[in-house]
Amino acid sequence: MIDYHLHLWPHGEADLEPTIEELARYVEVAKLHGVVEIAITEHLFRFSQAEKVLGKFFRRYPDSPMRRLMENYWRDHAKADLDKYVEVALAAKSAGLPVVVGLEVDYYQDKMDVVKELLKGYPFDVLLGSVHWIQDWPFDHVSDEFVQANWDSVGVENAWDSYTRSLEELSSSQAIDVLAHPDLVKVAGRYPAIPEEFFDRMAQAARDCKIVAEVSSAGYRKPVAEAYPAPYLLRKFKEYDVKITTASDAHRVADTACSFSDIKTFVTEAGYLELAGFKDRTLHTIPISGKSPVLS
Ligand SMILES: [Zn+2]
Ligand SMILES: [Zn+2]
Repeated sequence: MIDYHLHLWPHGEADLEPTIEELARYVEVAKLHGVVEIAITEHLFRFSQAEKVLGKFFRRYPDSPMRRLMENYWRDHAKADLDKYVEVALAAKSAGLPVVVGLEVDYYQDKMDVVKELLKGYPFDVLLGSVHWIQDWPFDHVSDEFVQANWDSVGVENAWDSYTRSLEELSSSQAIDVLAHPDLVKVAGRYPAIPEEFFDRMAQAARDCKIVAEVSSAGYRKPVAEAYPAPYLLRKFKEYDVKITTASDAHRVADTACSFSDIKTFVTEAGYLELAGFKDRTLHTIPISGKSPVLS
């Protein structure tokens, strides 16, 4: 197994300077769960370099309490140094730790060229792509009542449609390698009348754009209480020959490879025998049980 979605810093907590020792602790916990390789994938919006080029992104929407909340959230997070983060991850790799260097990149409508330009000089192994907000609405902030009340004004069908359109546009941007938590829009447990219509579009986007899909245990810890993707969507990915990674989306060491025995059963029952690993943003396969070719 691999855990290809790990954060160093919980939301709402000040980011620290990463260290090799910290990355070694993630590897240690990962190994206890049979994980042979991890990807460090902090959010792009946690770095001051992103603030410089994307900091005004939400200004495109009319001024409102939601927009101000989103702008403040973004500004509060954009403090770490991307150069230092990459430097430490590379040093961990050089020290022999089974770590690949990644980022979790959000969808910025009409600005993915700016994202690509910002990231092209960095030696990333893998870039995850996510849709965490619909316009200026961070729908996955499930413990914020004000944010969650917006589901009723937007409507479940509209929310799923907007989310899926963003996912399609993100996929075709060619800026990312893996769709993180592909059906995150279900996070609050709000399902449309016929979710299969949306799942079909998500699976088609991954297939047509040759993007890998992430299978994540993070959904078990949310109100929806199921893995991302839903069983129907995972079956579609398999049918379309979309490759997968496995991930915990942990925001602290202790959650590394969380619920991975369930994830292993989930993916093997769907017919997957191997996972997609990445080096220099190039895909290679890793058997679900066994050692990573990168390490041997
Ligand atoms: Zn995410
Ligand atoms: Zn994440």
